[in-house]
Amino acid sequence: MLDETMDIYQLTLHEAHELLESRQIRAEELTRQVFARIAAVDPDVCAYLTLAQDLAMDAAREADHAIDQGKAGPLTGIPVAVKDLLCTQDLRTTCGSRILENFVPVYDSTIVERLKAGGAVIVGKTNLDEFGMGSSNEHSAFMPTRNPWDLSRVPGGSSGGSAAAVAADECIAAIGTDTGGSIRQPCSHCGVVGLKPTYGRVSRFGLVAFASSLDQIGPITKDVTDCALLMNAISGYDARDSTSVPRPVPDYTRALRPGLDGLVAGIPKEYHDVSGVDKDVAQAVRTAIEALEGLGLTCRQVSLPHTEYAVATYYIIAPAEASSNLARYDGVKYGFRDAASQDLMDMYRNTRSRGFGREVQRRIIIGTYALSAGYYDAYYGKASQVRTLIMDDFRRAFESCDVLLAPVAPTPAFKLGSKLDDPLSMYLSDIFTLPASLAGIPGMSVPCGFSRDGLPIGLQILAEHFAEEKILQVAYNLEQAQGIRQRKPTLQPGSNGGPGR
Ligand code: GLN
Repeated sequence: MLDETMDIYQLTLHEAHELLESRQIRAEELTRQVFARIAAVDPDVCAYLTLAQDLAMDAAREADHAIDQGKAGPLTGIPVAVKDLLCTQDLRTTCGSRILENFVPVYDSTIVERLKAGGAVIVGKTNLDEFGMGSSNEHSAFMPTRNPWDLSRVPGGSSGGSAAAVAADECIAAIGTDTGGSIRQPCSHCGVVGLKPTYGRVSRFGLVAFASSLDQIGPITKDVTDCALLMNAISGYDARDSTSVPRPVPDYTRALRPGLDGLVAGIPKEYHDVSGVDKDVAQAVRTAIEALEGLGLTCRQVSLPHTEYAVATYYIIAPAEASSNLARYDGVKYGFRDAASQDLMDMYRNTRSRGFGREVQRRIIIGTYALSAGYYDAYYGKASQVRTLIMDDFRRAFESCDVLLAPVAPTPAFKLGSKLDDPLSMYLSDIFTLPASLAGIPGMSVPCGFSRDGLPIGLQILAEHFAEEKILQVAYNLEQAQGIRQRKPTLQPGSNGGPGR
């Protein structure tokens, strides 16, 4: 039943599904309400770069029709937001970059294809750091997204638009991407659930490449059940992505069961006994671990000794791959071209200098240097070796543990502008999310508490490759025990007329 005090845009995916299926609400009305919510709060939050209202209303009507025919799946009629790094047919895909400002793909990414095939309603494309490079959404070429819990703070990044949209009820669920933490970190800062699946679990076809050996797509949702439902819809082999793994997809909702008896969690000392972790974060994580122990989880100390090299390793490998992936934006094949240039070399130079933002240019320069003859072995080659050591750390830990528990980020959401001129301090905000990305293992951020200032804090749960179900089980139990979803940001529409669009 729909609670009288609740607006329908606040529903979770599974709640909305029940009401849609029993025809207590209609997809058209739900979609209309979501767009009304966006109109009310997005001038402040700035989560969306592009809205697809007409396409969405058409899809909603189709969904209602399917429901009337008794053909409703879990996603039928559910308004979903998609990070603007994923190709959407006939819908602008900017990657948060001037260089693709007017790019309209002629095809859908596999994931969008699957969402549509499941009857989901694509609401629009969410803001991000340009090409996924950043941890605050301030590196979007268009505007910064703001944290719905405190509009003077960042939502995290790079999937900050998706995380903020879910937190502010501007969609029912969303899709993000994670190369080094871009699902987990913004979800922690916005108080929503985000899962980076195992590398190879979800097809990357149609995901605009940042660092191909690290990029993964995953769900951003209001609760853990929704995360499992979206995982069911988006996972699985795709012949169009050579790194997608041909392995059967379980029904992830079966992991949502009470009790944790028999499960062992490792508490990695390199993520806990370290300086620089905010007191409130440490406290919230500790309290969550205690709550999980109360539910039957056995915890033991473990060590991941190469953790300290993760930031350096990632910031060689990711820029190296990015510099190669971004070579395609040359003003000839896609998007922006500097038309005033006199000759070809000039055109290349001016197109790339004007089309890319500062952070992207910084990464291209670092990456090109790391890959250049004479330096390759010293940087990229060495970083790849260290990456193997980081993977081995996890492999050893998972010999005796089912999951690992850690903070997602060292601090709650920081103030807009506070790290923009200090790339190193921005890079350090990824310190706890990068190792899992380098190892290709799955990781989740699940809300676990609040700071004294009322900012959300996430617990990070990691597991070995393809063990997403264990993560879901632990997260589900924490969610049931803590009831954190009851608390919502109090957004006053129009309350903060700051910079915005
Ligand atoms: N913040 C990290 C970076 O800037 C990770 C980004 C991501 O996961 N896309 O590269």
